[in-house]
Amino acid sequence: MKIFVLNCGSSSIKYQLIEHESKNVLARGVIERIGMDGTFLKHYGRDGQAVEIKRHIANHSAGIQLVLNVLIDKENGVINDLSEISAFGHRVVHGGEAFREATLINEQVIEDIKKCITMAPLHNPANLAGINACRELMPEVPHAAVFDTAFHQSIPAKAYLYGLPYDLYVKYGLRKYGFHGISHQYVSERAAEYLQKDLSELRLVSCHLGNGASLAAIKGGKSVDTSMGFTPLEGLVMGTRCGEVDPAIIPFIMDREDMTGRQVYQYLNNKAGVLGISGLSSDFRDLERAAEDGDERAQLAMDIFSYRVKKYIGSYAVAMGGIDAIIFTAGLGENSDAIRESICSDLEFLGARLDREKNRLRGGIREIGTDGDSLKLLVIPTNEELVIAEETARLCPHMV
Ligand code: AMP
Repeated sequence: MKIFVLNCGSSSIKYQLIEHESKNVLARGVIERIGMDGTFLKHYGRDGQAVEIKRHIANHSAGIQLVLNVLIDKENGVINDLSEISAFGHRVVHGGEAFREATLINEQVIEDIKKCITMAPLHNPANLAGINACRELMPEVPHAAVFDTAFHQSIPAKAYLYGLPYDLYVKYGLRKYGFHGISHQYVSERAAEYLQKDLSELRLVSCHLGNGASLAAIKGGKSVDTSMGFTPLEGLVMGTRCGEVDPAIIPFIMDREDMTGRQVYQYLNNKAGVLGISGLSSDFRDLERAAEDGDERAQLAMDIFSYRVKKYIGSYAVAMGGIDAIIFTAGLGENSDAIRESICSDLEFLGARLDREKNRLRGGIREIGTDGDSLKLLVIPTNEELVIAEETARLCPHMV
């Protein structure tokens, strides 16, 4: 069964065509700068060969049509006919309280995803644009929505409610939702397999550290707390996002910098985080290089990042009554041994000592702690597309 997995941003489309049974990725690619100058499609198809197509793509529908054409292209295509695609799996960032799990898409589901737009104004409209375009182009096949928030719907009220008047929760759904759930779920399942333990017996902290970053406390396979909140702005200091700050700072910046509330919101999303602290870059590769050359603010930005991660790990140890494994994943978590080393320093009291040699090795799933330690330190490459494909296949048991 071939499943087409889509992850649509406001000006981008990432996709993979996955053969579900073998887990093989038949083709993958990305379109960037949709609706702008310099739109391009980068497609990896037959034999993993890259094809780059530069042409104006006005909207998501035109972009998806182009990708479908490339999939059946005589020269670069990987399938003979679009009828070989059995189902579409769509990543949807915000499912609010309406969606506790992935679901097949119908008109009601579309309406419920629309209701979540107020909570994810940057993400859900783009996700819906992709869904609508695909349903129009291929209405005869099932389409599934897989939500970033769904995995965190198991978080108890004492962890998801803010110290705000309860009316605001009732009226507007103001609460912590959490994100990166598809990734947290995937790496927690892989961790249980790797450790040869039943997921229901494990207390895990999953550290999804990419440009956006969040931690999840996962007890018995269920998310019990997470660092992102009502939006992906809360929690860790990220590439360009501030993470948690004193809310009083917002009217202060509005007054002193003469900004509207919306401008401050954008400022805290796009100009803060390690970019804002370092004044240099949101990319940790740049920060690591600069710190090696003696740039103190680049070093400070990385120290602040790691310290915040450590504080969350500590709070989740208390929340779960201990931790059996800490998992590092996503761009930074998988690739930066320096950041892992700084996060894992001084964790002996929790039962973990980083093995610096193992930490420097590259590869797939691996353990980076000292043999025999009670708290395991794991690096697990995430694969959100595979989860979306598997959830879609689960919802379409009669398809082949
Ligand atoms: P993601 O959002 O998961 O794609 O992660 C992207 C981020 O991971 C980049 O902005 C970098 O900060 C970080 N990253 C990726 N590769 C490396 C690396 N080799 N060393 C340090 N940081 C990295």
